[in-house]
Amino acid sequence: MNKKGIAVLGSTGSIGTQTLDVVRAFPDLFHVVVLTCGSNATLLVAQALEFLPDAVVIINEEQVDFVKSKLGHTQIAVYSGMQALEEVVQFESVDVVLNAIVGAAGLRPTVKAISCGKDIALANKETLVVAGELVMSLASQYQVKMLPVDSEHSAIFQCLVGEEANPIEKIYITASGGPFRGKDRSILTSVTKEHALKHPNWVMGAKITIDSASLMNKGLEVIEAKWLFDLKVDQVDVIVHPQSIVHSLVQFQDGSLKAQLGLPDMKLPIQYALSYPNRLKNTFERFNFMDYPELTFEKPDLETFRNLALAYDSLRKGGNSACVLNAANEVVVDAFLKDKISFLGMSDVIETVLQKVNYLARPSLDDYIESDYAARRVAQEIIN
Ligand code: NAD
Ligand code: MG
Repeated sequence: MNKKGIAVLGSTGSIGTQTLDVVRAFPDLFHVVVLTCGSNATLLVAQALEFLPDAVVIINEEQVDFVKSKLGHTQIAVYSGMQALEEVVQFESVDVVLNAIVGAAGLRPTVKAISCGKDIALANKETLVVAGELVMSLASQYQVKMLPVDSEHSAIFQCLVGEEANPIEKIYITASGGPFRGKDRSILTSVTKEHALKHPNWVMGAKITIDSASLMNKGLEVIEAKWLFDLKVDQVDVIVHPQSIVHSLVQFQDGSLKAQLGLPDMKLPIQYALSYPNRLKNTFERFNFMDYPELTFEKPDLETFRNLALAYDSLRKGGNSACVLNAANEVVVDAFLKDKISFLGMSDVIETVLQKVNYLARPSLDDYIESDYAARRVAQEIIN
């Protein structure tokens, strides 16, 4: 059997490095053909020397000389800049693009890869938040697989295997609730990034960790699920499940619920996205019922965690609203990480940006990119 050629976009991040762990465990099945990162040149070089891809991309142009100097003796082509991402995903050797870039920056490479017929293993949920309708219609036009890496969406995807003829009544996306579950607004006024960066169950990149604390991550996941599984907004529900063992559930028309369970470990959904429809034997730690005598569920608190309500609103409104929500969120999270805005202030800014940026009912790809830019500018003005 031919090895599957994988382009790992965002290879130096949390999902990217775990993807390389999976590839390392199955050298007969997978082969890394492209590695890309933002600016962690040292790690990119080490990864390139281990996996010997056809090409690497470093977005930060100031570091390209360093990367070239370290890889000059190899056959590996070295590129830099965002435009290069759209070139490397087209390579003949690429069978699947695993997109683990953080933020709306992941959109264009996904779109390019789809229009070159490449399957997509998608961790970059922002791609579907910004332009879900457009991306899914391209995926169907080019007949490429959209394989979710986000654990909740992988769970739903796994529950749907064999159910192709059976409509979904609704889905439940589980949420850990993050480090501030059960806290009220009076406490949240004074929380800092140090508090917010301590997630109870998962170790992840900084942006998604803040999103998890603010419940924006769940809002983004509701939007992601709506497009990925072609649902109406009211078919997507969120249930808080602090143990993060039930990764999400599907309810069918006869009322039957299917769930996927397991210890929280992103390597499982990454591996499944790469091996689908097969399951590969591994040695990941197994679930032990005695360690979890109680699995509990509760309603999310939409009044305290307004981001989740804002995400539902923007999904109902449609058009470029979720794109604006996402861009504003990227700006406020960055500002929160730099101590320029308070935790609760993040939702206030997002709400104002949603009111101020022009609504477009049927955006093109360029419209999305302009709306993203406009939302960032307005958000930055408010913060300044
Ligand atoms: P991370 O910050 O750890 O890594 C991001 C990667 O993208 C790095 O390689 C970085 O160099 C690169 N990058 C950053 N900005 C870029 C830009 N502007 N252009 C190109 N590349 C850029 O992030 P992560 O936690 O691995 O998350 C990646 C994506 O996966 C996010 O969309 C996140 O929501 C999603 N996700 C992550 C997890 C997790 O457990 N970490 C779980 C589910 C979904
Ligand atoms: Mg998730």
